[in-house]
Amino acid sequence: MSDNDGKKTLGLRGGPRSGQVKQSFSHGRTKNVVVETKRKRVVVPKPGAGKGAGGAAHAGDPSKRPAGISDAEMERRLKALQLAKSREVEEAKQRADEEKRREEERQRRREEIEAKEREEREREEAARRKAEEDERQRLEAEEAKQRAAEKPAPQQPEEPAAAAAAPEAPRGGPKPAPRKERETREERPARGKARDDAGRRAGKLTLNQALTGGEGGRQRSLAAMKRKQERARQKAMGGSMEREKVVRDVQVPETIVVSELANRMAERVADVVKALMKMGMMVTQNQPIDADTAELIVEEFGHKVVRVSAADVEQVIETAEDKPEDLVARPPVITIMGHVDHGKTSLLDAIRNAKVVAGEAGGITQHIGAYQVQTDSGTTLTFLDTPGHAAFTSMRARGAQVTDIVVLVVAADDSVMPQTIEAINHAKAAGVPMIVAINKMDKPAADANKVRAELLQYEVVVEAMSGEVQDVEVSAHTGQGLDELLEAIALQAEILELKANPSRAAQGAVIEAQLDVGRGPVATVLVQNGTLKQGDIFVVGEQWGKVRALIDDKGERVSEAGPSVPVEVLGLNGTPEAGDVLNVVETEAQAREIAEYRHNAAKEKRAAAGAATTLEQLMAKAKEDENVAELPVLVKADVQGSAEAIVQAMEKIGNEEVRVRVLHAGVGAITETDIGLAEASGAPVFGFNVRANAPARNAANQKGVEIRYYSVIYDLVDDVKAAASGLLSAEIREKFIGYAEIKEVFKVSGVGKVAGCLVTEGVARRSAGVRLLRDNVVVHEGTLKTLKRFKDEVAEVQSGQECGMAFENYDDIRPGDVIEIFEREEVERTLA
Ligand code: GDP
Repeated sequence: MSDNDGKKTLGLRGGPRSGQVKQSFSHGRTKNVVVETKRKRVVVPKPGAGKGAGGAAHAGDPSKRPAGISDAEMERRLKALQLAKSREVEEAKQRADEEKRREEERQRRREEIEAKEREEREREEAARRKAEEDERQRLEAEEAKQRAAEKPAPQQPEEPAAAAAAPEAPRGGPKPAPRKERETREERPARGKARDDAGRRAGKLTLNQALTGGEGGRQRSLAAMKRKQERARQKAMGGSMEREKVVRDVQVPETIVVSELANRMAERVADVVKALMKMGMMVTQNQPIDADTAELIVEEFGHKVVRVSAADVEQVIETAEDKPEDLVARPPVITIMGHVDHGKTSLLDAIRNAKVVAGEAGGITQHIGAYQVQTDSGTTLTFLDTPGHAAFTSMRARGAQVTDIVVLVVAADDSVMPQTIEAINHAKAAGVPMIVAINKMDKPAADANKVRAELLQYEVVVEAMSGEVQDVEVSAHTGQGLDELLEAIALQAEILELKANPSRAAQGAVIEAQLDVGRGPVATVLVQNGTLKQGDIFVVGEQWGKVRALIDDKGERVSEAGPSVPVEVLGLNGTPEAGDVLNVVETEAQAREIAEYRHNAAKEKRAAAGAATTLEQLMAKAKEDENVAELPVLVKADVQGSAEAIVQAMEKIGNEEVRVRVLHAGVGAITETDIGLAEASGAPVFGFNVRANAPARNAANQKGVEIRYYSVIYDLVDDVKAAASGLLSAEIREKFIGYAEIKEVFKVSGVGKVAGCLVTEGVARRSAGVRLLRDNVVVHEGTLKTLKRFKDEVAEVQSGQECGMAFENYDDIRPGDVIEIFEREEVERTLA
């Protein structure tokens, strides 16, 4: 089109289309452009030249004519072309004429109306003048009469009043008639004008009317005008006056976002914001306000306030006591604790391997954070597969007491160690019974009695020492005592009389949660009461969802999970955190509301905590005279476990001078929100096996937020330690030298899967380390098996070039994955 437009302008005074173009210019109507386009559409295909706008010109030129068309044919086509053209010119002309006629008609009508109005106005004016004249004459006559009869007049006292009123008379006395006339006179032209003008004109008129008609009855009309104005103003302001009719019960929680408040009142958000501004609160519709303010607003709008507290929002979560007859026995949930290297993991593996019958369907257990085994006597036991105190305490801190029994592992060759004591304290604090597993009994240096004796010091009196605590000698390596241990657990469970009601709405606790590539947020939930079913709507911590699928510890899909059963839950709207409690509710709206409420409450709590730390910091500073510094950090990791481990490690760092404060720790790619938070606090962002997504990278560059990537917790902790003591060298451990995107994946016999890639940034180097990123999460780290440019093996491929890459010992590559190419640099470290 732009091409055509240009032609049109240039060929204004000549060329085959000049007539038509002139037509279009005579009115300056865009319509004509359309006409022209249409013409082209009709004409172009005919000559078959396929030359667009130039078709007409080329048609006559034999040199440009397509082969195989005779002169006669050409002639015919030309004629047809001209005919079509002239027809269109004709049509355009007609249309233009029509338009002109209409315009004239309009003009004529306009003039007519104006003339009529003028006439009328003159007539009115004349009438008014005549009336005034008459009146004046009448008054003069009267006056004269009075003057003549002045002296003998007996009604003198009354006369001055009449005389005083007289000068007013021309305005006041005869007023009603002319004023009415003037009104109609003024209003009529207004009506004659365009309709959409009417409102505005009418408004103006009222004013004019009030002013010009001020000769009499002024007060009344002014008041009316004011009332009218007030009404208009209120209408514009969306005032509450007319809305008072619908009084709503508005639920107001402790905080509410302005737009949500407006929504609940069924008022316009803008009005609510305005009302808030009037109260001196400058807020946007997305900002939360507190309940007191919300209450004032609700009252202002004439609605009724219903205050809702946290408990109310969460009230829908069923809390009814289970009737004794509904309760059935449930398997115990066991956590293994103990000092590092005493064999927790080995023991868990040994139990699992011993009890999962080889060859059983799905015999290879899936790591979902927990698994179930059957003892020989037929008791089912649920083991939490996340050993260590961190998980135990963080779960407890979140109010999820999932563990029924603690197995305290003590290596017989090492006896009681610091973390053994820690574990004892944790178990005692939680009021959870313990069973002591004296491990590594296969070792020559094993001394079980030493362990038993030492435990006495910590008030753990085992049965062998005539105490209550069961103790079992085991070996994770040989399998010795494993069955005995399981039976001891079963016995303990029996004593505990663990029961649950499988027929109620499920309640459970999150053991592990992560953002899974492809499956979305996934949480392993240990059902504690009730039965979780597919399709159930639930709220879990600050998230909610609807159970899309349940997967058990054998990796099999199940339709439901009863008490003490661990299952992977799919269908969450976000990633919850370990220790979050899951509750099944009835409706999605309830789930959403609770999740939202908790989210806001948590946000406030975090904000409050932040403020408190600052305050603490200030106090510390005041006390210690400017020597306390704080190092705020943000942590994003691939799985919840890593995030927690990092946070715990961070919290241990620091001395009297420096403290590390983890502003936020989460799972998944580093997002813009993270960068925003980091910027606000001047914190660096640590990505553990995750990367920043593109918007976050840009934001970080813009705002100068530092992002550091790690794949070894030790490195991360080390760096933070160094930073905390002001020793962090500017050098980077790892240098990213390039990025490549996988476009295609080929199978090459003998080599395996080969990725057809495009190097998007930097270089791809054969010798460098590589990581496979899927949705900004590291899914593999390793080295390259091949780097090919066409058929040749090469050392390097530059940005913008394509290449083939295959990983050493790794095959799960997919189109769309990103390969990160990095090199490690040896960083000299000062020993502090
Ligand atoms: P965790 O840190 O408590 O989880 O301990 P691990 O399960 O990782 O075990 C630490 C080390 O002790 C590993 O090298 C295991 O092979 C070894 N180990 C664990 N259990 C036994 C056992 O029963 N006998 C022997 N000899 N070694 C064991």
